[in-house]
Amino acid sequence: MSEFKIFPLLASIVDRLSLKGYQQPTPIQKECIPALINGNDLLGIAQTGTGKTAAFSLPIIDNFGRNKIDIKAKSTRSLILTPTRELASQIVQNIDDYADGLGLKTKVVYGGVGRQGQVDAIALGLDILVATPGRLLDLIETGDINFEALEVFVLDEADTMLDMGFFNDVQNIISKLPKRRQTLLFSATMPAEIEILAQAILTKPTKIEIAAQTVTIDLVNQSVYHLEKSNKVPLLFDILQNSDFEKVLIFCKTKYGADIIVKALEESSITAASLHSGKTQAMREEALQNFKDASLRVLVATDVAARGIDVDNIMLVINYNLPEDPRNYIHRIGRTARAGKSGVAISFAVENDVRQLTNIENSIGQAIPIVTEQPFHKEFSKAPKQVKKKKPVKKTNRARKKRK
Ligand code: AMP
Repeated sequence: MSEFKIFPLLASIVDRLSLKGYQQPTPIQKECIPALINGNDLLGIAQTGTGKTAAFSLPIIDNFGRNKIDIKAKSTRSLILTPTRELASQIVQNIDDYADGLGLKTKVVYGGVGRQGQVDAIALGLDILVATPGRLLDLIETGDINFEALEVFVLDEADTMLDMGFFNDVQNIISKLPKRRQTLLFSATMPAEIEILAQAILTKPTKIEIAAQTVTIDLVNQSVYHLEKSNKVPLLFDILQNSDFEKVLIFCKTKYGADIIVKALEESSITAASLHSGKTQAMREEALQNFKDASLRVLVATDVAARGIDVDNIMLVINYNLPEDPRNYIHRIGRTARAGKSGVAISFAVENDVRQLTNIENSIGQAIPIVTEQPFHKEFSKAPKQVKKKKPVKKTNRARKKRK
């Protein structure tokens, strides 16, 4: 029996979840779903991969599936604001899947694609609108959307909004929403700006904190390869000779760098595509889809484009360039070893990266083993600094619920 039956959700939703193979709710779902059904505001400290999309969307779908109303033109009953187009597409796909058969009107809007289809869909009135900030503001300014009928507002990945410079846009959008509403805020971390925003927009929220996914790190076989910059491409080919690595995600620093790597791989008949903000939305979606269904072996991405993308069965993550922000190291390597599987993460480091590598090692509280048995190994003259030991990481994700 599906453990989702413990929630008072419509039978059709529970059936859809069973069809998708969800046997039991994740910790965040266990905590969020009842609180949201009760109508509470919610502060969720959790990142992508914890099942937060279903956690916030199932109660919304259930509510609107039971309580149908004539929605006013150009209005929406709920708004889910998320930072990237990829996340927005992913969220609406999940929602359409969970809500199948309930006749809800859903739409996703983001920039980089034509707006008329979006305007037409909103004109009919929506149950659920998933949006990125830029295009939504544009639609607000042209009067193509209003929030008269808004009941629920979800702010997803608030800290990413901040990192990507969308914070003013987000605040501007919030200022247009009716005060009477249910509000949910999700963020992987709680910098001061988000703390202040949470206090301003949430009323007596249920607070749920899912411990950062330190679990995955235990399941990832991490290593670092010291080398000369000019040997990065040859080393990449050497690693990719191992055909066990069927699905490989490579992170690099720049769009230009990503395109160069893809070109080199394609010249050697390795199927690859890049994912970065310089590509059109259609190209990004095609690349992601081809990578998901394994018609591409390698996806080369920049941090921003890859944030939150959800692809199963990635066996290997390569940090072609180390992330500038040490926190992104965990985000990157967490793309492999999902759902309890193990994975491999290899980082390339040149001599100038030693300091950055130490920062990363300090942030994860462990030294990353150096592979010296490789054709391009280079001894570095600078001795790496001692890694500061962190408190041992917890083995399981634990949901902690606090009433504020
Ligand atoms: P999210 O954090 O919402 O991006 O979800 C991460 C992944 O977990 C997605 O692929 C979901 O389809 C999947 N997922 C969400 N909830 C469950 C569940 N209860 N059981 C199994 N998979 C789930």
